[in-house]
Amino acid sequence: MKQFDLKDPIFTKLSEAAALLEMDTYIVGGYVRDLFLGRESKDIDFVCVGSGIELAKKTAELLNPKLKVNYFKNFGTAQFVYHGLDLEFVGARKESYQRNSRNPIVEEGSLEDDQNRRDFTINAMAISLNKATYGEILDPFGGKKDLENKLIRTPLDPNITFSDDPLRMLRAIRFATQLNFSIDPKSIQAIKDNAHRISIISQERITTELNKIMLSPKPSVGFILLDETKLLPLIFKELSELKGVEYVKQKGHKDNFYHSLQVLDNLAENSDNLWLRWAALLHDIGKPKSKRFEENVGWTFHGHEVIGERMTKSIFTNLKLPLNKELKYVQKLVKMHLRPIPIAKDSISDSAVRRLLFDAGDDVDDLMLLCEADITSKNEEKVKRILKNFKIVRQKLKEIEEKDHIRNFEPPISGELIMATYGLKPCREIGLIKNHIKEAILEGEIANNEEEALSLMRKIATDLGLKELN
Ligand code: ATP
Ligand code: MG
Repeated sequence: MKQFDLKDPIFTKLSEAAALLEMDTYIVGGYVRDLFLGRESKDIDFVCVGSGIELAKKTAELLNPKLKVNYFKNFGTAQFVYHGLDLEFVGARKESYQRNSRNPIVEEGSLEDDQNRRDFTINAMAISLNKATYGEILDPFGGKKDLENKLIRTPLDPNITFSDDPLRMLRAIRFATQLNFSIDPKSIQAIKDNAHRISIISQERITTELNKIMLSPKPSVGFILLDETKLLPLIFKELSELKGVEYVKQKGHKDNFYHSLQVLDNLAENSDNLWLRWAALLHDIGKPKSKRFEENVGWTFHGHEVIGERMTKSIFTNLKLPLNKELKYVQKLVKMHLRPIPIAKDSISDSAVRRLLFDAGDDVDDLMLLCEADITSKNEEKVKRILKNFKIVRQKLKEIEEKDHIRNFEPPISGELIMATYGLKPCREIGLIKNHIKEAILEGEIANNEEEALSLMRKIATDLGLKELN
């Protein structure tokens, strides 16, 4: 829906259905918030005083009898999709929490009860779809004003709100990050006081919020809030361990927490790719484990990219992030994040460029974005100089790829061909020949084509004492 229109059939039919069922009905939650913010939403939540399932069925019937309504009897919720919008229906409820259970006792309630149990004032506004008050806004906690003041605030005492459902602490930080809002100081204090209760929340729900922070325009906002509120070490220990500067003989190193966040923000300006953003956040994650102070050299982090590659796997596992191609991709970028640097510094040799293309394959453009984001020097001249060098690397990558086609390297001659030519069964020599040819191409000794590869094959075979079959 492009513009909010109370004459839209979704609302008029819903209102009609509600009147037929004699149920008070309202639009609530994120949709109302996003409406005032001018943000587009793909889902609309409706709350009614009565059965959400019945209301959904009746509304669907009036809109289009062919619509399929999904419902969840246990939760009293229903949902269907109409013109690409996800419409969610729920009966108004009242929740009471007990100290030692994470599951609230849920009873039917009034609209007011339902607004009370919502997480933030900006998420607790409702618009009436009842005939007599159609279109009226019900904003008991001043959500509209908080939107204007860019403020995240809980409707009730934040200690109760956060203790009842500790996920709300992460939601507060996530909304602050997405919307560039601040969090009410009382709520910040309550998050600090309740941070330990995050332990009762499932990893999946935590990670959903982390990914929403990652996809925000400036993700560092969220991680800095997580750090300030003491949630970070509880949910992402490795990241919080990047914090701090150690000094030996008055020599310090940079604070890798703030550096990593800067790299993430830089990258976020140029890419919406969630996994590339994860690679930016994790690129230096191996630094604390590899840190040494060496006489006459200073601080070193040898091998941090390899340690980082390994840590990425355990972080993905702990955070329940996807362990297939997404993990492999992030590991590859973490491991390779230093590779373009020497190429940018020295007079660039073609073979180094070819090797980079070979190892990075189709991810080479993402790797370059990561490397460019990794420049966080405060010295503008220096930044300009390095960026210029990276531009040369990019140009070189393009030229060499056009000439040599290394990105998706396929050996120009196959193992089968080698076996057939020399009458061999699978054996070590075949691997030797293939590897030799690959190396020769990467070194630029031969071109990446069948003809030159065949002639090199013959030479190597002779050296190995192999005889061609006739
Ligand atoms: P988004 O869809 O961008 O995540 P949203 O505000 O729509 O934002 P949803 O998770 O879709 O968030 O939830 C819809 C509404 O339900 C919220 O606006 C809020 O009123 C309420 N809500 C969701 N989760 C909670 C929670 N953990 N505690 C209290 N209220 C919640
Ligand atoms: Mg929503």
